[in-house]
Amino acid sequence: MARIGLTGGIGSGKTTVAALLADRGAVIVDADQIARDLVEPGGTALGELVTEFGPRILQADGSLSRGELARMAFGDPRATERLNEIMHPLIRAEAARRLAERPDAALVVYDMPLLVETGQRDLVDLVVVVDVPEDVQVDRAVRLRGLDAADVSRRMAVQATREERLAAADVVIDNAGDPADTVRQVDELWQELVVYGLGPSDPPNTVPG
Ligand code: ATP
Repeated sequence: MARIGLTGGIGSGKTTVAALLADRGAVIVDADQIARDLVEPGGTALGELVTEFGPRILQADGSLSRGELARMAFGDPRATERLNEIMHPLIRAEAARRLAERPDAALVVYDMPLLVETGQRDLVDLVVVVDVPEDVQVDRAVRLRGLDAADVSRRMAVQATREERLAAADVVIDNAGDPADTVRQVDELWQELVVYGLGPSDPPNTVPG
């Protein structure tokens, strides 16, 4: 079983590439989904968040008010840091658990926007960075995903720079071109994983025993 860390800035195309890998048989572990699960009622993070930020982050039914948490946590750098100090270790631990849970899968992809920023590279065997120039990131996030431009800029400011991410990459998928070009690169990556024995079938020319 091989574990791939898939990362990239906001709007770069992580979800698109993860879906292409899933089509080819990879199992996806999604860090954003883990974060959502952790703050569900009864989730490991919710109690810690209430201790830190107070019961006002809860709605009447006991579930998290994401808007209130965002208002409290993102207005103040110290509060943002506390939120990250609570969430990042819990996300890491749960990701490690989910990555280990599928020993039967030939390839598990950990889709994690902040893989580099949170020092989670050691959870995976190979880092794949989905790369586009910053202006393309903003354009796709705003025009195609409907995100607020100011919100996109704020999130880009706390993410690794393009250079930092590329420096951490074992493989780069250039997603600035048209979708067919990205499909071709994913096919190449898939093929290389197979050839080097990291992927879905046994490597060729291995000597038994
Ligand atoms: P986020 O960090 O916001 O979750 P993401 O990195 O997962 O974003 P995607 O959602 O995969 O990025 O892509 C952002 C938008 O760009 C989507 O609407 C997607 O359909 C579109 N897109 C992805 N790749 C391409 C491409 N090569 N050409 C044109 N549009 C693309």
